[in-house]
Amino acid sequence: MNIPSHAEVIVIGGGIIGCSTAYHLAKEHGAEVLLIERGKLTCGTTFHAAGLVGQLRTSASITQLLKYSVELYDTLEKETQLASGWKQNGGLRLANNQERWTEIKRQVTTARSFGLEMHLLSPSEAKQVWPLMDESDLIGAALIPTDGQANPSDITQSLAKGARMHGARIIENVSVIQVAVKDGRVVGVQTTAGYVACEKVVNCAGQWSKQLAKKNGICVPVQSMQHQYLVTEPLDGVTADLPTLRDPDRLIYFKEEVGGLVMGGYEPNPQPWDVVPIPDDFSFSLLEEDWPHFEQLMEQALIRVPSLEQAGIKNLTNGPESFTPDGNFILGEAPEVSHYFVGTGFNAFGIAAAGGAGKALASWIMFGEQPMDLWSVDIRRFSSLHRDDPWVKNRTIEACAKHYSMAWPNEEYQSGRPVLISPLYDRMKRHHACFGSKSGWERPNWFAPPDTLAQDVYSFGRQNWFSIVGREHLACRSSAVLFDQSSFAKYEIRGEGAARGLSWLCANQVDRKPGTLVYTQMLNSKGGIECDLTVGRLADDLYYLVTGTGFRTHDFAWIQHNWPHDSQVSFSDVTEQWATLSLMGPHSRQILERVCVDDLSPGGFPFASIREIQIAGNAVRALRVTYVGELGWELHIPIANSGIVYDALWEAGQSYGLVNAGYRAIESLRLEKGYRAWGADITPADNPLEAGLEWAVKLKTDQSFLGRVALERLVGQPLSKKLCFFTHGDVDTVLNGRETILRNGVPVGYLSSAGWGYSIEKNIGYGYVRHKEGIDHSFLTSGEYALEVACEQVPCDMHLHPLYDPKGDRIKC
Ligand SMILES: Cc1cc2nc3c(=O)[nH]c(=O)nc-3n(C[C@H](O)[C@H](O)[C@H](O)COP(=O)(O)OP(=O)(O)OC[C@H]3O[C@@H](n4cnc5c(N)ncnc54)[C@H](O)[C@@H]3O)c2cc1C
Repeated sequence: MNIPSHAEVIVIGGGIIGCSTAYHLAKEHGAEVLLIERGKLTCGTTFHAAGLVGQLRTSASITQLLKYSVELYDTLEKETQLASGWKQNGGLRLANNQERWTEIKRQVTTARSFGLEMHLLSPSEAKQVWPLMDESDLIGAALIPTDGQANPSDITQSLAKGARMHGARIIENVSVIQVAVKDGRVVGVQTTAGYVACEKVVNCAGQWSKQLAKKNGICVPVQSMQHQYLVTEPLDGVTADLPTLRDPDRLIYFKEEVGGLVMGGYEPNPQPWDVVPIPDDFSFSLLEEDWPHFEQLMEQALIRVPSLEQAGIKNLTNGPESFTPDGNFILGEAPEVSHYFVGTGFNAFGIAAAGGAGKALASWIMFGEQPMDLWSVDIRRFSSLHRDDPWVKNRTIEACAKHYSMAWPNEEYQSGRPVLISPLYDRMKRHHACFGSKSGWERPNWFAPPDTLAQDVYSFGRQNWFSIVGREHLACRSSAVLFDQSSFAKYEIRGEGAARGLSWLCANQVDRKPGTLVYTQMLNSKGGIECDLTVGRLADDLYYLVTGTGFRTHDFAWIQHNWPHDSQVSFSDVTEQWATLSLMGPHSRQILERVCVDDLSPGGFPFASIREIQIAGNAVRALRVTYVGELGWELHIPIANSGIVYDALWEAGQSYGLVNAGYRAIESLRLEKGYRAWGADITPADNPLEAGLEWAVKLKTDQSFLGRVALERLVGQPLSKKLCFFTHGDVDTVLNGRETILRNGVPVGYLSSAGWGYSIEKNIGYGYVRHKEGIDHSFLTSGEYALEVACEQVPCDMHLHPLYDPKGDRIKC
């Protein structure tokens, strides 16, 4: 085999994802690409996909990627002269009950928010579009006219041809044995045909990606799951323009194929393909048909399409596909090895996602930064927990089973719990915490009063915890509460170069005297917000950083990856060493004073400072900061002493009305106070000027920092979007996020986060108002605003300042 000795980027795997990535690398970036496929192109999972191409997801960016896939598939055949089997026959989704109907109406609004056409249909209209179905149990349906279907193998070959046309080399029947790494960075790949040096690698090896990545210590938490569909002989009434059909209440989908039907689905008891390692020679291979398991779907299909009874069955395909523990695919640069990229785990929508995922991944590979907000699919969302294969398997089974189940707001996963617990877990449990789970950590969401079960009851209306959380919220505003926030990620950066390095990475001024605490963002080269965290200076050469539970891997990787070479330091992740108890509320000072002799006065311990104090004889790192907008301290306690400190505070607080409170109260409190949540309200695609965070950026200093050049270019220019706050008073309207913002009846954006504000007694939504021609104060304030919620418009007020404290003065507390 004649293999080149060098390539700029090596793509491992010739499925649809590898081919799309190679196509975009070559076409859009002129990269020198070598794609290496162990067998023949498509021989892994791609050749046996059903080929449905749907576009709507819960994330705007992922919907954007899928929309791009459709645009690409529409033109690819013309470009490459190779048929792709693409046809835009639309996608129909059915609702059999009121709750599903509400979900679908919310999806139609989400589609509108994301610029995707989707219409509600009556049962009889749906029947006209899909005449074979029995519509007697339908409440309604929705149609996305631009959805469609493709032939997975043809489209992959077409992408491969396109890649070759733009200079990519594709080599088949060669296996990558291992990626070569030197000093933490990719330098080449060892293959069965010899060594190839390269600058970057992208692992698109589908269900083999995990075992390949493991050889370099990289965590890629995918699990192969069996997925089955049957193909019928031609059936009367099946026309070539029949839309794809998803019937989530019956767990099934259909598409037309050569005059017959493809029918598959997502059963509630999905089966993993439990083979470790996945065999190398599983090429153009399938698993055994499992009719007994498929029966449950078949029964449902016969109810929906009675004429299936007469259809001849051509075959039942059982193929393995890589799924992930949260149902989202995996993109980006591995935090463990520089220049090692990953594109895998496509959860049975890899054909739909390939176009957009390949384009985004190519840009990420070339520029080292994600081209848009890709947090929901970012490989850095995982943590060391995801190295635990049995845990990943269990959670993935649950995620896969949820594929067609109702997507309830605030829904929590149940499998593999509890796994990571705070040292205060037993105490929280004794106080009847209803726990949620974040990155594996059990965290109190709310506390059940006596005689109430500490368990969520899901619905699209107000859920069972609504008024209970209200009491926790109001206690924080009027007396004091304790939040167990031990799962916060915490790092220490130590060394002479710490201040210099952090000054380069942080948009705010962090080179201040020891004892100072600074809220800051870290920006990418375009000025987008990559991290949002608190930086405390403990000594001249020691910083303590605190960030959100879910951002632990991401932020640590961002900091290390972008650290300036001339600033020598050591980095440590100290998350497990420190429990965190947040004591918040107007009485928090009085409570703390009862167990602590240190000076806690406003002058002695001002806002935005960090000190070591003694609580009940235990040394505690106290941070004067708040995410709920009340006087308070985050108390970081060595794990072993956290129980004693909690007990002392609890006892001292009883006469002040101290109660426990959970994360749902935090959410509502922060929404009232204007605090942004990273990953929702602020992302790599939003800059501090758009997000209203320019006050936290040191543009007035002459210090250089990452993102400064980009921001300076934007200062003084009209913004194209601006984060605003919206309120609507009707408690029966429930905002969950993604509702459309209308200005003078025209869609201008959607809510990035939302909830109920118990102090102001209103629904609150945050969202960017967008206007390409530029946004200024008069544009924002001159419009009449409304929100579209589940296809209905409700009036709302737009605000430019936090809602509970109109002055927006965070230092005041
Ligand atoms: C039954 C079924 C139905 C589906 N239906 C749909 C659908 O309707 N719509 C949809 O969007 N998606 C569907 N999917 C999902 C879709 O098929 C996958 O998401 C997609 O094919 C994944 O593509 P990939 O490129 O990641 O993986 P693969 O196609 O598996 O490609 C990975 C490639 O990497 C190669 N490889 C592995 N290790 C190495 C190595 N060490 N060196 C070199 N090469 C290597 C393999 O040989 C393989 O060709 C379905 C999946 C199944 C199983």
